[in-house]
Amino acid sequence: MESYKIQQHKFDVIVVGAGGAGLRATFGLAQKGLKAACVTKVFPTRSHTVAAQGGIAAALGNMGEDDWRFHFYDTIKGGDWLGDQDAIEYMCKHAPEAVIELEHYGVPFSRTEEGKIYQRPFGGMTTHYGKGTAQRTCAAADRTGHAILHTLYQQSLAHDAQFFIEYFATDLIFDDEGVCRGVMALDLNEGTLHVFRGHAVVLATGGYGRAYFSCTSAHTCTGDGGGMVLRAGLPLQDLEFVQFHPTGIYGAGCLITEGVRGEGGYLTNSKGERFMERYAPSAKDLASRDVVSRAETIEIREGRGVGENADHTYLNLMHLGPEVIHERLPGIAETARIFAGVDVTKEPIPVLPTVHYNMGGIPTNYHGEVVHKKGDDPDAVVPGLFAIGEAGCVSVHGANRLGSNSLLDLVVFGRAAAHRCAEIIQPGAAHKDLPSSALDKALSRFDKLRHANGGTATADIRMKMQKTMQSDAAVYRTQETLQEGCDKISQVHASFEDVRVSDRSMVWNSDLVETLELSNLLDQAVATMYSAEQRKESRGAHAREDFPDRDDEHWMKHTLVSVDEKGKPSFDFRPVHMNTLSDEVETVPPKKRVY
Ligand SMILES: Cc1cc2nc3c(=O)[nH]c(=O)nc-3n(C[C@H](O)[C@H](O)[C@H](O)COP(=O)(O)OP(=O)(O)OC[C@H]3O[C@@H](n4cnc5c(N)ncnc54)[C@H](O)[C@@H]3O)c2cc1C
Repeated sequence: MESYKIQQHKFDVIVVGAGGAGLRATFGLAQKGLKAACVTKVFPTRSHTVAAQGGIAAALGNMGEDDWRFHFYDTIKGGDWLGDQDAIEYMCKHAPEAVIELEHYGVPFSRTEEGKIYQRPFGGMTTHYGKGTAQRTCAAADRTGHAILHTLYQQSLAHDAQFFIEYFATDLIFDDEGVCRGVMALDLNEGTLHVFRGHAVVLATGGYGRAYFSCTSAHTCTGDGGGMVLRAGLPLQDLEFVQFHPTGIYGAGCLITEGVRGEGGYLTNSKGERFMERYAPSAKDLASRDVVSRAETIEIREGRGVGENADHTYLNLMHLGPEVIHERLPGIAETARIFAGVDVTKEPIPVLPTVHYNMGGIPTNYHGEVVHKKGDDPDAVVPGLFAIGEAGCVSVHGANRLGSNSLLDLVVFGRAAAHRCAEIIQPGAAHKDLPSSALDKALSRFDKLRHANGGTATADIRMKMQKTMQSDAAVYRTQETLQEGCDKISQVHASFEDVRVSDRSMVWNSDLVETLELSNLLDQAVATMYSAEQRKESRGAHAREDFPDRDDEHWMKHTLVSVDEKGKPSFDFRPVHMNTLSDEVETVPPKKRVY
């Protein structure tokens, strides 16, 4: 193995990722007097959070009656009773203050006539426990993520945190006692290796949508945090729950926000029918995303799709009129023009279900601390390791996330993680020396991939993985498709042994970076497919045709999946938290989910 010179940096806390979650944690840590470093592979404002359109949920009640308890109920129901109710309570209760805080930081929200934050209806968001429609989603036109991410970055600059931009984190560093002590990273620009030591590492690396062929997420959403956690021998949770968004642009995959339906847009089939009326008589087009995606899939399957191949549906917003579109939905008008060649004031947008969000991820408690079973304790904390945002699974979204709850999750749990670190870490505490072998595994893996000299290009393996996931871990699943998917994805994983990296340099080696990313994606692709195969029920986004009902008796539990070096998965489970934190709300017992 080549010998590498490694630069060491010491901080109180290392945050990996500068999306909404990572930035909120980073300046929260600095505010608390902790020396924080934020390591990010892309420039902070290019993180995928920038692309969020529709908004952020909070029961502010600016546009009609609302209460955080209604939000709590909706989130549990939306997640089909797989969400941890303590974490959901924490999120919904803190939502109003989190959004007001964003407003005070400078997020330019759209306004009501009276100057309050504008709120739009979103799927599954109701009042009075399903009886009314809530206007709960706070929006900055249809560029809410852009507004939030830029504001959070500005706040980070105002605080004393240090940024390491265009540094690619490769692996976590643990000591012999299983305490996370830091992370190894490659400076993409200088081509140098670094070790960031911290008393805690906060993973905020986002989702792994790019395991699929068609997804709304950025090319950078490769689940690097999840990959690092699996390699550290820790499990991931609930990966079978992949959200398909009902309105990705046909062909391009770019998102058209649910905010369009929130403003009154609706879906039609080849007969011009508003088919959602049949599937969700009361919520119609604003049923939750899993429900709408399944309805579209059935329409297409039964021959009522639109277009030459009858393989998609239409999203109509012509009736809203140019003023509403111009004021509330300017971004999607542009996206539709560029990616579908459609003038939304005159024609419908061709759409179909597209992979959008990972409900599963690194299991944590509501402080953002990573948990792992120890003896009888399913919730033992892994010392020194946190995970927040889409990378994490604090399980507020359960089996299906409600739109506009992710931006909320980022800021609420980004802040919670910072608070927790401040409670348990003494600013400036000395770092124990690492055992001499601590870096061995991370370094040899890096070196092996850098010099990988097999016969298959990274892009070829990636394409096979994406196509397999797209066809076999789809909206609807059966034992046959999943079994076939498991066999195929294991073969694709095995083919990574034969990967070829052609560029051997250290500076801006995108060939190497894409290979490192692919390795992270592959582990999570395997974990997703096998997790879906073993869960013999339908719940939220996991819809099995052979097991069409939810089975609370056997399956109201979180899947924990580990993947070994050879790509072999193994399983364990964690109970769903049904307890609440206060007596302001009561546990919502499972019942049938209808919209
Ligand atoms: C098109 C689109 C629209 C959406 N709209 C909404 C919406 O309206 N409302 C809502 O609530 N949710 C929405 N979502 C979901 C939500 O935006 C995302 O779940 C959320 O932004 C993820 O934020 P994050 O901070 O976890 O990660 P990201 O924003 O994805 O950021 C990940 C960060 O990790 C860094 N990183 C990753 N790997 C490494 C590595 N190896 N080394 C160093 N750094 C690394 C990246 O540089 C980046 O800074 C939308 C998602 C998409 C794709």
